[in-house]
Amino acid sequence: MVHQIDQSQDVLKKDDQFVWHSMKPYNPNATMVVSSSKGAWVTDINGDKYLDAMAGLWCVNVGYGRTELADAAYEQLKEMAYFPLTHSHVPAVKLAEKLNEMLGGDYVLFFSNSGSEANEAAFKIARQYHQQKGQYNRYKIVSRYRAYHGSSMGALAATGQAQRKYKYEPLAPGFLHVTPPDSYRMPDANLDNALEMACVQEVERMMTWELSETIAAMIMEPIITGGGVLMPPDGYMKAVKETCEKHGALLIVDEVICGFGRTGKPFGFMNYDVQPDIITMAKGITSAYLPLSATAVRKEVYEAFKGNDEYDFFRHVNTFGGNPAACALALKNLEIMENEKLFDRSRELGDQLLNDLQAQLQNNPYVGDVRGKGLLVGIELVKDKATKEPLSTDMVNGIIGLCKKNGLIIGKNGVTVAGFNNVLTLAPPLSLENEDLTFIIKTLTNALNTLVN
Ligand code: PMP
Repeated sequence: MVHQIDQSQDVLKKDDQFVWHSMKPYNPNATMVVSSSKGAWVTDINGDKYLDAMAGLWCVNVGYGRTELADAAYEQLKEMAYFPLTHSHVPAVKLAEKLNEMLGGDYVLFFSNSGSEANEAAFKIARQYHQQKGQYNRYKIVSRYRAYHGSSMGALAATGQAQRKYKYEPLAPGFLHVTPPDSYRMPDANLDNALEMACVQEVERMMTWELSETIAAMIMEPIITGGGVLMPPDGYMKAVKETCEKHGALLIVDEVICGFGRTGKPFGFMNYDVQPDIITMAKGITSAYLPLSATAVRKEVYEAFKGNDEYDFFRHVNTFGGNPAACALALKNLEIMENEKLFDRSRELGDQLLNDLQAQLQNNPYVGDVRGKGLLVGIELVKDKATKEPLSTDMVNGIIGLCKKNGLIIGKNGVTVAGFNNVLTLAPPLSLENEDLTFIIKTLTNALNTLVN
């Protein structure tokens, strides 16, 4: 049994003394020390229970307390704990085969441990691919403002949020940014196709003016998640893919959050009728029970690395990547998703969540927009619906604090305007019970209605 933390140890005091938390000021409420969890619920060391409507960091897709995942890792650790993927092992082979099948069948998989690393591998693969093809000037990677792609120097360079880069620059060179579609805030959003056209034309112009022959790839999430759950127009991703093809650039799709059912499909790109060249994934691949990530690469790209020259292979090694226990656990995790039809459940419960929140919040003057797909929802809070001025950080934090007081953990994001995180986010476990959904809707709408009274 998992040992209970003795409260008399004064864990919080020691936490303050010894643990360096990421993003500390970002969390407006006191540190929670969580000691157990089950389903969509976590319990802290005081015995207080919370519904985790963020599934940790958008990652515990099958929910907490799945002992069969622990068993799968345990059995594998006993059988064969580790061997590097400079050679191979059975769990990695089985998982690669399974992921390829889920992706539509033409990919090879490179394993790492985190979303950032999966993206770093993707950038290096894209650059080297063009070198292998004799296109020595293609090194630039296009990404989008407001997107998040990770914390390492390359992934952060691809990230389009200046606040996260400030104080860490210079980052990796060669990363460019274009405007993402934001149907709530962009002036032409309501005109037929205007938003899609404007944003696609910006990609087209950038690739032309930077010179096509210098562009290696574009990276994008199907739906920008950490930048405020920005819903693209339906035809946008396909038009971006066509633009990339026209300019000879690869399309890398970051499925770190959108993958594994979050948007109601196995992968987010499947909502938009495109087949990416490279797909990166992490989080939901193991539902975060163990670290694992993968970079899926279209066979045709992979084949370019098969020359005989000593520089022809992918010179990128990752000690822990594709750990056997993590791969065995991931396979069991995917089996649970399949057996419990969690992708369908995400779509069905997500529709209900979105519809109910839209209906119940439509008259709230501080709720500018409620949007999402599957169990991924963003609620943009504003001071004034007409001007769309973001609600102050203090008020947003107040809502999050009130939800927490009433047993609900929600997230915030956005960076709509520098310094503001005015989009509340929901990304609960896909295994959410119906009564959990009701609890989220009730607790959140009650908290938002306190703004009005
Ligand atoms: N890409 C996206 C879209 C993400 O949301 C994240 C993490 N939130 C990452 C990449 C980086 O993943 P990690 O934190 O595992 O490095």
